[in-house]
Amino acid sequence: MKITDVTAHVLRLPEVTADCDGTQDTCLIRIDTDEGFTGWGEVDSAPTVVAAIIEAPLSHQIANGLANALVGLDPMALDVCMAAMAQAANYYGRTGAGSHAMAGVNIALWDIAGKANDRPIYELLGGPHKKRFRAYCSILFGDTPEATYELARKHADLGFTAIKFGWGPMGQNESLDVALVREARRGAGIDVDILVDAGQVWDWKTALTRARQFQEFNIFWLEEPLHPEDVAGYGLLSDASPVPIAAGEAESRYVDFERLMREGRLDWIQPDPGRCGISTMVEVGRLAHRMHTRVVNHSFKSGITISASLHALAAVPHGEIFEFCMADSPLRHELTRERFDIDDEGFVHVPEGPGLGVTIEQDTIAKYRVG
Ligand SMILES: [Mg+2]
Repeated sequence: MKITDVTAHVLRLPEVTADCDGTQDTCLIRIDTDEGFTGWGEVDSAPTVVAAIIEAPLSHQIANGLANALVGLDPMALDVCMAAMAQAANYYGRTGAGSHAMAGVNIALWDIAGKANDRPIYELLGGPHKKRFRAYCSILFGDTPEATYELARKHADLGFTAIKFGWGPMGQNESLDVALVREARRGAGIDVDILVDAGQVWDWKTALTRARQFQEFNIFWLEEPLHPEDVAGYGLLSDASPVPIAAGEAESRYVDFERLMREGRLDWIQPDPGRCGISTMVEVGRLAHRMHTRVVNHSFKSGITISASLHALAAVPHGEIFEFCMADSPLRHELTRERFDIDDEGFVHVPEGPGLGVTIEQDTIAKYRVG
């Protein structure tokens, strides 16, 4: 089999705000082959930058567009394809958007591998260790503590056993920070786990103070309180925090995840397949298992990323919970025919069809495609 075409599809809602909501736009990767199999991937990055990296013309041997590097290769030789992309992006894209673009291609290559073998991806990865995961409902904080209380009530009523609140006004001042978490707990009730995603707002000592203040609300974890580069701060915070610390969504390379786990001493590592690819997510998850660090997906995009996350997590020995993005965007809910509803115990199931096991809604692509 040979790759015949690699294209980027940039989708965007008519209005995009400054909220930290990754479902307002996206970049899909489509790979076609000479045997009729088509693979789809999705990237969580700056969509038009990723599209440029896919489509860039040849500059020279180690500065080439990823499509140029891939066309003509056998998509089943997945590691060879990854090496060809690393070579092409050597000068401009070893990390950041270059790495993210390769992640989207990696998902699409796994989709092809599954379809060509008529097997779900998790089987090709040696799974499943589990076929369903407890879903945590992932939303943003309300603009006020009162609005957060209402959001917590509304989402607890949907049947989730855990809800994460992220970003928004967190970090503006101490009393507001504490009020946001207090109202999240009050709205969710005592039987629902609440998770706090601070959004990179503090230094490690302030984060430690907040971790102690949030302890009385029995939070499941405190996520990304520090800037991603502050690995030393994560180490100090994790050692002293009375609540578990989670991070890792900002990383895309295996070596960076490994450093964050070893030096940041996290309780939870959070790879996003739309930034690191399925292959790296599984490698990171297996390292986490050996290090007795827990692993969970980060996913705040469409059903493509949700499916990629489910397959990868099913191939890791100790997956338990799952980030289930509930942002109210058609790009989250209408890009795949499969909607990944939770069951009556609040669990989400790994898709069973070949490859990712999702069906792409071409009408949704046509409606929101801008590039
Ligand atoms: Mg986060």
